[in-house]
Amino acid sequence: MSASPLSDELNIIDDLGCEPPAAPAEQARPWRILVVDDDPEVHNATAFALQDIRIDGRPLAFIHAHSAEEALAAIVADEDIAVALLDVVMERESAGLDLVRKVRQDLGRSAMRIILRTGQPGYAPEMRVIREYDINDYKTKSELTRVRLLTTLTTAVRSYEQLCTIMNARRSLALIVDTAADLLSRRDPGDFAAAALAGARKLAGVDGDGFLCAQRQRFAHYPGDTPLFVVGANGRFADRLGQPLRECGAPGELAAQAAAERRSVDGSGETAFFIAGENGHDAVLYLETKAPLTAEARQIIEVFCVNIGVGLENAGLIADLSFSAYTDRLTRLANRSGFVARIDDHLRSGTSGWAVALLDIDHFSELNDALGHHKGDQLLISVARRLCNALTPGMVLARVSGDVFGLLGPDETLDPRLLLEHFKTPFLVDEYSLPIKATLGLTRLDEAGDSDGIDLLKATNIALNRAKSGDRGRWHYYTEDMARETRGRLDRLHDLRVAVTQQRGLELHYQPQIELISGRLIGAEALIRWRGPDGEFIRPDLFISLAEYSGLIVELGAWVFKTAVAQLRDWETKGLPKGMHMAINVSLVQFRDPLFIDRLRQALAETGIAPQRIELEITESVAMLEADTVIGILSELKEIGIQIAIDDFGTGFSSLAYLHRLPIDRLKIDRAFVRDLDSRSGSGASIAQTVIGLGRSLGLSVIAEGVETEAQAKLLMDLGCPLAQGFLYSRPVAPDAFLAWVQARS
Ligand code: C2E
Ligand code: CA
Ligand code: CA
Repeated sequence: MSASPLSDELNIIDDLGCEPPAAPAEQARPWRILVVDDDPEVHNATAFALQDIRIDGRPLAFIHAHSAEEALAAIVADEDIAVALLDVVMERESAGLDLVRKVRQDLGRSAMRIILRTGQPGYAPEMRVIREYDINDYKTKSELTRVRLLTTLTTAVRSYEQLCTIMNARRSLALIVDTAADLLSRRDPGDFAAAALAGARKLAGVDGDGFLCAQRQRFAHYPGDTPLFVVGANGRFADRLGQPLRECGAPGELAAQAAAERRSVDGSGETAFFIAGENGHDAVLYLETKAPLTAEARQIIEVFCVNIGVGLENAGLIADLSFSAYTDRLTRLANRSGFVARIDDHLRSGTSGWAVALLDIDHFSELNDALGHHKGDQLLISVARRLCNALTPGMVLARVSGDVFGLLGPDETLDPRLLLEHFKTPFLVDEYSLPIKATLGLTRLDEAGDSDGIDLLKATNIALNRAKSGDRGRWHYYTEDMARETRGRLDRLHDLRVAVTQQRGLELHYQPQIELISGRLIGAEALIRWRGPDGEFIRPDLFISLAEYSGLIVELGAWVFKTAVAQLRDWETKGLPKGMHMAINVSLVQFRDPLFIDRLRQALAETGIAPQRIELEITESVAMLEADTVIGILSELKEIGIQIAIDDFGTGFSSLAYLHRLPIDRLKIDRAFVRDLDSRSGSGASIAQTVIGLGRSLGLSVIAEGVETEAQAKLLMDLGCPLAQGFLYSRPVAPDAFLAWVQARS
């Protein structure tokens, strides 16, 4: 065919939107251009003429086809071809137009732009064909100078993009119509909310978590303001269902802002869409988008939100939403929000002599795991039924959280003894008869001073926790002392934080561990001591749990480890046995610290202490928690060579099978059993004997802690326990005293 016409007029091309070669660093998505011609020369010339050209900031990528058949295959394979530069006359006179027909009619590809070229004038297709097949341009090759080619291509590319946008918008509209239709067909409020949320996520093309919150209707018995409640939620917000916005942390604040300002608000990687409702039933849709939404996605969701608003306007739905915001789905009792609202109602009524109680089912989560959630649910329902029988008119029963029920009623009816009567006979769940116990926390409203429903729930919860942790009966009334203690705990936490971050007032004391037969020193246990701001020692029992609860234990534990390992090195230079080990207590929270193992390695490397000389003590109850985390970390520790002991053994619920899976070296018999050894009445001897036997059969070493008397030591030896630790030998003492103790014995 004719010679290349693509060589002249290299002039001004700026106004075409084409830029000179840009910095190669940018990785803009190229426009995909298909060149179809049976003349190889045309391919080269086209590519050459358009090399390094960008249109609207995006480079060009060429796909080459040398026959109609090849071109068709390329078009089928590539959804995103913007423009085809097509030779009309190829192997056959009609080859080009046949191809166009297939592309438009059979493949339905309407966005792709088509520019026809031919070398021979006189082959121009009729106007009818050009219109019917939506052909962008028709040019003879000699007409297509470089600049003209660029102009034509630029127009075509832009029109392709516009078409794509329109088509996407059309698709989105169809999606909105579908999704909205689906939405409005939901009669169940929970379903409606879930569908609204799912629809929004689909339209936004995000899979982040989110929630929908709406205003409940003003009910006669739920007066007061009408805050927003979570009525649908997914992912990490799932357990916020039914709760007021203020329980939802920072996302809740963003949503509240949207509601207050009555407009959609963007956070970083999150948006709260405001949904206006007519009768004050406003709603907000919160969505985690991770990246900012495109303007288009945003618009689509705004449109969809109008549909959500319409759905919410359905009065029945609003009433139902209010109902569900206040009702526990499982038991149909009031939920936490409902309970709080009812307490507030009661407070307004001014009746005296009433109380609030929280009743917690003991060991429910273990039962739930053991029986399966379905049976767990049934158990909760039967507990709810029985408690219902305890109610007198006007009283309220609620399910406040998983296994905690709330009661509101006259003092004398809420007598804990009476309530616990209902737990005297076992509960029947299918074929199981379950003896269930419960624990109660109570607050007398007359003694609670000026507080609202939420305050009262908090106070009662403090009493409940007290009842659960103490061993003085199964219930506890809230008192001002408890509030003071709680405040005291907060003050102590503050002091502890200062002590840990400034490493002030912290010391390690050491208690020897000995071989019973020879009396030989085999190791030491490091025990932390904290001298509080007033110079008095505070018992570890009192602050370790605080440190765990606040996360301070991570830093504290790191300090303990470093100090104890350094101590071992120091004693070595002062003549203590090179073989002695150092036992160090660690808590589960430390296991969750990603740097835990690294810190250990570093302390070992810094001192050159062999890992085999370090023994970590974890309590039995900890070893039983989070099996996978624990086993994973213990295995890693073992690989380093660190030894592991199970502390307080005999107090937990270890199953033999599980114990078997744990890579451990030593069992430490809890001092409670040692104490009972010579008391005759206690079961200490038999438990100690069992632990010793267990250790032997699992090939583990056994040590008894809390040995205070010669008699205990002798009994342990008789039972076959090789190692011991306790006041009989030495109390935990400061490092120098420890050294003196060793030297005095040798
Ligand atoms: P534990 O690990 O069971 O520590 C043994 C406790 O028993 C120590 O109490 C020790 O002083 C005491 N004890 C030792 N011999 C006898 C005895 O013959 N009779 C009696 N009645 N008691 C004896 P301490 O030092 O008050 O520590 C209490 C708990 O605090 C420890 O119990 C341990 O769980 C925790 N703890 C101490 N230091 C640390 C630490 O550095 N990190 C962590 N995570 N926990 C620690
Ligand atoms: Ca210990
Ligand atoms: Ca212990």
